[in-house]
Amino acid sequence: MSNPLLQKFKSKHTTAPFSKINNEHFKPAFKEGIKRAKAEIDTITNNTDVPTFKNTIEALDFSGYTLDRLSSVFFNLNSAETNDEIQKIAQEVSPWLSEFSNDIRLNKKLFQRVKSLYENRKNLELTTEQNTLLDKKYKSFSRNGANLNDTDKAKLREIDKKLSKLSLQFGENVLAETNAYELHISNEDEIKGLPQGAKEAAQLLAKEKDKEGWIFTLDYPSYVPFMTYVNNRELRENLAKAFGSRAFKQNKNDNQQIVLDIVKLRHKRANLLGYKTHAHFVLEERMAETPEKVLSFSNDLLVKAKPAAEREFDQLKSYAQKDGIEQLQKWDGAYYSEKLKKDIFDLDQEALKPYFRLENVINGVFEVANKLFDLQFNKVDDIDKYHEEVKTYEVTNSKGDFIAIFYADFFPRKGKRNGAWMTSYKSQWIKDEENSRPHVSIVCNFTKPTETKPSLLTFNEVTTLFHEFGHALHGMLANTTYPSLSGTSVYWDFVELPSQILENWCYEKEALDLFARHYESNEPIPQEMVQKIKDSSNFLEGTQTLRQLSFGMLDMSWHGKDPSDIDNVKDFETSVFADTILYPDIAENCMSTSFSHIFQGGYSSGYYSYKWAEVLDADAFELFKETGIFNKKTANKFTKNILSQGGTEKPMALYKRFRGKEPNADALLKRAGLLKK
Ligand SMILES: [Zn+2]
Repeated sequence: MSNPLLQKFKSKHTTAPFSKINNEHFKPAFKEGIKRAKAEIDTITNNTDVPTFKNTIEALDFSGYTLDRLSSVFFNLNSAETNDEIQKIAQEVSPWLSEFSNDIRLNKKLFQRVKSLYENRKNLELTTEQNTLLDKKYKSFSRNGANLNDTDKAKLREIDKKLSKLSLQFGENVLAETNAYELHISNEDEIKGLPQGAKEAAQLLAKEKDKEGWIFTLDYPSYVPFMTYVNNRELRENLAKAFGSRAFKQNKNDNQQIVLDIVKLRHKRANLLGYKTHAHFVLEERMAETPEKVLSFSNDLLVKAKPAAEREFDQLKSYAQKDGIEQLQKWDGAYYSEKLKKDIFDLDQEALKPYFRLENVINGVFEVANKLFDLQFNKVDDIDKYHEEVKTYEVTNSKGDFIAIFYADFFPRKGKRNGAWMTSYKSQWIKDEENSRPHVSIVCNFTKPTETKPSLLTFNEVTTLFHEFGHALHGMLANTTYPSLSGTSVYWDFVELPSQILENWCYEKEALDLFARHYESNEPIPQEMVQKIKDSSNFLEGTQTLRQLSFGMLDMSWHGKDPSDIDNVKDFETSVFADTILYPDIAENCMSTSFSHIFQGGYSSGYYSYKWAEVLDADAFELFKETGIFNKKTANKFTKNILSQGGTEKPMALYKRFRGKEPNADALLKRAGLLKK
């Protein structure tokens, strides 16, 4: 047997042996990996000794090593370097994996062991981290109904079945409605204002459908530029109404009843499991903890952002008036905002790019990490990698201690999915007094170098690199005992703090001076450019805040109260939006019927997290601003209490230990220019 995925990785630091792996290794490896993991679980379950933390909880957390390592290799490849064959294997092995985790969740004997420990936890003399792990393991059963009697278990399964069908149907309806619409333009005058790139894309779309002219759809890459740039107001109105009325037309794709069914079933499910509402159920495992806290946070922000939003709206109104617009409508928003922004700032993204040569930005982010966290990134060539473009680093501290392996994969290519993300090939843990260090990776799709020019990043790409690097630091600086609590394994509304806080350094002259130099002249970026970047990033911040809050409040209103009495989706939505509207309502439009985040994807009771994460990162960065953005003491505090701690404790406790207080919205409002100092 010579399947490299099933042998102990023999390389230095046990990095993944990419060059030895072929596609035919995966399936047999998954089969065997699951078998081994099952055997380990059986050993725990069938242990005749009384359950102890060590023989049950700790053993569970360290089980499945082979499966974990090979899964991380496989699924990371499926994102960063995939092909038809890998995708086919993914389709085949995914059900095996969910069956395996279902088997664990439904394992009654195992649950009894976990439960007996959980109920006796006060007497076990556990550390904080061990308590958290016990709680996490127990909840992974109880939140899935392990404590219910057989009748209620059957009910729960029935609800879950219905819910997954409804979510699927919801998504299919939105998709069908999105695809059912197209705007076919044959007279170029009608799309005046549209940038060349968007025009070409529309032309290509027409060609694909064997038509002359230009075709626009309700997909974002087509819809957004149209609403932002096309001068023809009537066409913008048509498109906006088509977009906003998806699945709200009393036809076979209508989602109104589905929305009502979903929220009522979710409520029933939560009640069955002993929670007041679906939001209470979800928020139990969030930093925000309760719907009440989310609402008070949202209201607090709303009160402060609303006056600014109204001022901005007035400004936009009078700006549009010069164009003869008497009543500003929703389909005017993006269009006049873009024009006004250009008038005020005239920030030329192209002129910024020469200051952001990729190599300089990477060195910049490494230098920031060095100044703050004492990390050194040593490029090495003896680490096996999955593509020649991947760069590999050994990360150490100034004492020479090995901290982590870092992979960086920057450019788009066939077989890599869109976007940017951080991931890992091995998490960190401590076992038998050995601190086993993590292997962390970031994957991006940045502007490629050409024959004549190096890779020059847009400012947006610069902040993306800092963002993903922030996640990577969370992984690399992990210092916990148990793998499932390590690094980025934290509550969902806490995970963006390390990433978003790092973006702040991109707006600081002191940090930019380390790396933002013209790639030809080596001139540092001019101060007025930095100021422009800052100012324009705050443009219409009040309006944006109000918009985000309104979506979060809609989500929380659907899920944070008993929905039994709600019978009209549009009326309900209108009442929720009453405090946040700026534009006149469009009677034939409805947000909820195409709000896929919360009715199809996994964001239900979680939409607030976007703003929540911003509040956190601004509040945390405030301490750096007060003490100096490269202040070692503050950075140490951040590492000690946040970056190294993973999910070993409730995030609010960790945060307070770093910050000395709970976060509040003032720093965000100040940064956004919504609050006078
Ligand atoms: Zn992120």
